[in-house]
Amino acid sequence: MKILVTGGAGYIGSHAVEILKNSGHDVTVLDDCSTGHVDSLPPTVRFVQGSLLDSDMVSRALKGCEAVMHFAGKSLVGESVEKPDLYRKVNVDGTKVLLEQMNVLGIKKIVFSSSAATYGEPESSPISETAQCAPTNPYGETKLAIERELASAALTQQMAAVSLRYFNVAGALQTDRGWLAERHDPETHLIPNALRATSDSPLRIFGRDWDTEDGTCVRDYVHIIDLIDAHMRALQYLTPSEHHVFNIGSGTGYSVAQVVASVSRVKGSTLPTVDAPRRAGDPAVLVANIDKAEMLLNWRPVRNLNQMVEDTFKAS
Ligand code: UDP
Repeated sequence: MKILVTGGAGYIGSHAVEILKNSGHDVTVLDDCSTGHVDSLPPTVRFVQGSLLDSDMVSRALKGCEAVMHFAGKSLVGESVEKPDLYRKVNVDGTKVLLEQMNVLGIKKIVFSSSAATYGEPESSPISETAQCAPTNPYGETKLAIERELASAALTQQMAAVSLRYFNVAGALQTDRGWLAERHDPETHLIPNALRATSDSPLRIFGRDWDTEDGTCVRDYVHIIDLIDAHMRALQYLTPSEHHVFNIGSGTGYSVAQVVASVSRVKGSTLPTVDAPRRAGDPAVLVANIDKAEMLLNWRPVRNLNQMVEDTFKAS
């Protein structure tokens, strides 16, 4: 299939490109390179450098495509609190341009990279797709607003849409060109930060006084290869005039202290850490109920936390 991958030069997008290419798909990437890296892309991919807000560029990138995997967007919670307008513009307005141009060209399939940030502070755990969505930051608000645009496009332009609500994505992928991995700047995510911690620059543990078993936050980590597998299945599941939402996590929670232990094991030495205050906006526990994806997408993650840590370590 001919597929446009928006944000294909980013962490998750570049893994999708690699796996789509290896599965025989014909891939075009649209990326403005604001945070992505062109050298993450295989040389055979068609690359259009441009913004989602530039309708001519979007139209050019979409030419000949039958489906879109939509990863492009701003994705830092903290930054979204400081610059909510930027997040609304790039994420929501950008997606509107994409949907308009898809409509013009008659392209009716889209898989969207949504987030567990749409839920906000969960009322119960594990959390299922039917839970109330009350995002606690502009990033989560924009992801929810995009889901609503997709639901509307399903009704008005017969769009077949799936939104995948990611929990904590981690891990890396070995390719014939070397490892693909997280290359964020600044890096805010726990596993890459833990792996690069030193005694001079220890890992900060954001709160040891949470209402959890060991006092540190609990999250649901999913390997990026399993996550992209969910996208491939979502592509098959797309149904005209319908928008479906799925949680994509592992269904299991790990505390920050458990992640630290896993990193120490993989590195063969005790990880230097320092206790720090709670990070604003962090819920204590965020774990996915993945029954819906298991049942309807026939998807099940097969890689555990240790593999995510090991692969990220090998890639570093
Ligand atoms: N965390 C931490 N130190 C760090 C980065 C993250 O203690 O340097 C904690 C964070 O408070 C959260 C968990 O690790 O409880 C996962 O954070 P991450 O930023 O990786 O993902 P998020 O859950 O925010 O999407």
